[in-house]
Parts: sequence; C-alpha cells; structure tokens
Amino acid sequence: MLHRQTKASILVVEDEESLRETLKLNLEMEDYEVTTVDNGPAVLKMIKNEYFDLIVLDIMLPDMDGIAVCEAIRMQHNDVPILFLSARNSSADRVEGLKKGGDDYLTKPFNLEELLLRVNNLILKNKRIKSPQSIADEYEFDGCKINFAAHEALDKNGQMQELSKKEAALLKLMIEHEGEVVTREHILQVVWGYNVYPTTRTIDNFILNFRKYFENDSRSPKHFHSVRGIGYKFTAN
Ligand code: CA
Repeated sequence: MLHRQTKASILVVEDEESLRETLKLNLEMEDYEVTTVDNGPAVLKMIKNEYFDLIVLDIMLPDMDGIAVCEAIRMQHNDVPILFLSARNSSADRVEGLKKGGDDYLTKPFNLEELLLRVNNLILKNKRIKSPQSIADEYEFDGCKINFAAHEALDKNGQMQELSKKEAALLKLMIEHEGEVVTREHILQVVWGYNVYPTTRTIDNFILNFRKYFENDSRSPKHFHSVRGIGYKFTAN
C-alpha cells in the first residue's frame, strides 16, 4: 500500500452542456478524474493552481477561442497535453491548432472510442513514472538552494530560511519525486508517520510556506503545485 495508483486528471473545456456532460461521464467511466469548464478564461485561472494530465479543449468557445486559450497556456510555459475538439473540419484549423502548441486534434462529431484512445495515448506519452531519485543533501533550483541536512534554505530573495524537520522532509519527498504527483497518503506516511493524522490543511499550509520561500508569484506557482483531490507536485522548471 505504499503507492496508491493515482487517477489521471483531465480538464474538459466545452461550452455545449450536453457534450460537456457526455465527455465527463465517459471519461469518468474510464477512471479519470474530470473537471469541466465552459470558457477559456476559466481554464487559464484554473491551471495556475491545479495540475492536469490532459486538457480536452473545444475550439469554438465564446469570447476566447480554444486556439487562443492554447496559446496562452503555452505562454505560461505549461506543457500540459492538449487535445483539440472542433466542429470545423478544415486542415487550416488543424494546422493552426497544432502550431499554437496543441498535441492532437479531433473533429466533431467524433467517435467516442477514438476520443478515449487518443486521451489515453496522450496521457501515457506524457506520464513519466519515475522511481524516486536519490538526491544529495544540497539541492538547487531556480536560484534557490535547499540544504536538507542543515534544515535550511536560501529563498528566492537570497535570504536564509530555517526549515522545520517536517518542512525539510516534505521538501525532500517532493523533490525526490520531481515532476510526479505525490499523494496525500504517501506524504502522511513518509513525513508524519503512522498513527498521526494531520488535516489536509496542515499539508496545504506547508505548501503555502514553500510558495512564499521559493515562488516569485505565490499565487501562480511554478514549482509547488496542488493537484485537487490527489496530492502535490514539485517541478524544478
Ligand atoms: Ca463549442
């Protein structure tokens, strides 16, 4: 029971309600964690705070079309796989979508089985299941430096921060799993040990501190990500 298999999380962006609900239902039946929104600005807000394994993105959206949304996502240096959906079937759209950083493209009406296959392929391709990397006592990223043994860190402003034992342990665990989601259960086992049950809020508070120390903008974190309902993820870049 060390590693619970975590569900891949998908963000579905579709303004037609019936299709949105159909997609959600079918993806959930395939055991994905599904979040839905019906407009582009909501996507940009959401991906600042949450990690997704894939975005299914309709092109024809009110206000901001899917291609503009994709472009904005890539400008934030977010490499989440994007599968475009479009009612239009012109190769110009397809080329435009892929040029702006989309990974794949499906034309409506699509075959559901084909959609599920493409979703699965994109997620697998992106998922690098790594075993924990063993890391040295000192670790550097983005101008910050952590010394796990000394329980201290140089923050984004070059200030020395003392870390509590648990802070150091949580940082080490997340960094050992760089690029991977670490589940809450796993964090509780490794950092807090058995028979102690801090609330989710406790872990959240640790993450908020890490963002204060190491993020240039703690409201749109680049390194310390929350994955709703699952856990947390550290990315160095
Ligand atoms: Ca639409």
